[in-house]
Amino acid sequence: MTQIRLHDTMAREKRVFVPADPERVTLYVCGPTVYNRAHIGNARPAVVFDVLARLLRHAYGEDKVVYARNVTDVDDKIIEAARAQGVEPEVITRRYEDFYLADMGALGVRPPDIAPHATHNIAEMVAMIARLIETGNAYEADGHVLFNVPSDPEYGALGRRDREAMIAGARVEVASYKKDPADFVLWKPSPGDMIGWESPWGRGRPGWHIECSAMIEAHLGRTIDIHGGGLDLIFPHHENEIAQSRCAHEGAPLARYWVHNGFLSMSGSEKMSKSLGNVVTVEELLEQGHKGEVLRFALLSAHYRQPLEWSEALTAQSKATLDRLYGRMKLGRFFEDDELSTEHCDQSLLDALADDLNTPLALSRLSAITDARTLTASGMLLGLFSRKERWPNFFLDMGSGEAERVDRLVDARSEAKTRRDFAEADRIRTELAAQGILLEDGPQGTTWRRA
Ligand SMILES: [Zn+2]
Repeated sequence: MTQIRLHDTMAREKRVFVPADPERVTLYVCGPTVYNRAHIGNARPAVVFDVLARLLRHAYGEDKVVYARNVTDVDDKIIEAARAQGVEPEVITRRYEDFYLADMGALGVRPPDIAPHATHNIAEMVAMIARLIETGNAYEADGHVLFNVPSDPEYGALGRRDREAMIAGARVEVASYKKDPADFVLWKPSPGDMIGWESPWGRGRPGWHIECSAMIEAHLGRTIDIHGGGLDLIFPHHENEIAQSRCAHEGAPLARYWVHNGFLSMSGSEKMSKSLGNVVTVEELLEQGHKGEVLRFALLSAHYRQPLEWSEALTAQSKATLDRLYGRMKLGRFFEDDELSTEHCDQSLLDALADDLNTPLALSRLSAITDARTLTASGMLLGLFSRKERWPNFFLDMGSGEAERVDRLVDARSEAKTRRDFAEADRIRTELAAQGILLEDGPQGTTWRRA
């Protein structure tokens, strides 16, 4: 058994990873808010945690890992985008979730095992908020329900910031109905025709933080093995998740290991973010002719905890290395080898990954492998050398049999929706999106097209 070590943000050191139950290793990563196209910085956690999931599956077994990544499909930014375009929020969230899955699929990111949607888990959130009111950790005020931060003496353990820095950093609204300026929203009113749900506190919608706590409880359990996300989520989002879950669960911790990835910046500037306007989307990079696999390689070229500076030189270097590796694999020989698995990977590459996902070292080890079979199997651990990339026209060359296969899946999804099995319907849509096939629901039924 490979011994995996992970840097745990809570412990501030690398720790040997031991799952609570090796038969069911649980990983949860905060996923996208679906209202616009993902930029390359957004893709970094998706790729990093995809590699972690692959490593865990290698170590514990393909079907022993449950990886959940949520979809935030109710949020003020979504509501604003829907209003600006004169459509229902669902039109926005469906469109951009499909784009997200297609963009990440192009980068070789496998869909997670579970993709819980906030709007499908409102009852679970309402139940958790009600429990927090019962335990004295939350209160109702002016149509809102707020978490009372001073009620949790352990609040702030993850980031270890002092109280003043937290209040300033959270940029929370200082509202007259708050008992304490650090208190954060669990539920807020939805006026008029705004998207909302009935609750004991009136018609409204959840705050952002509660969805992760409620969905982790519903889909994975009280305490999970690994919780992941970007560094920028440590505060306030993860501190708030921790407080909500622990207070609702008689002190049981939310996660046993906390893993955070560093920022991505454009060369010569700060962190890539929409507010700074220095953003390049995955779509733009693909349109510029970069292969998804080259972008993935570039994202893995720095250690996940370190900052990564994105540049033309980085993608050019990544492409040159991949060209060389492909040359060594003597084209396609092992793609037909169903027996090939990560079991055949190079041990020194595996050791590098097991040591807190040291991908730069793993990539340099990859370059040193001369045997084509070992090279291909080792690349699989990193999500490289995918069939789609090898034959860029793979999907364009789809025969009629392929189109029929997609039609059958679309029909199966429609049937699932008819019997209100939304989890199955979403699973099929996710599977197709990962293959670059986008669905559009209209009054005449569902149509599909290639991304
Ligand atoms: Zn979260």
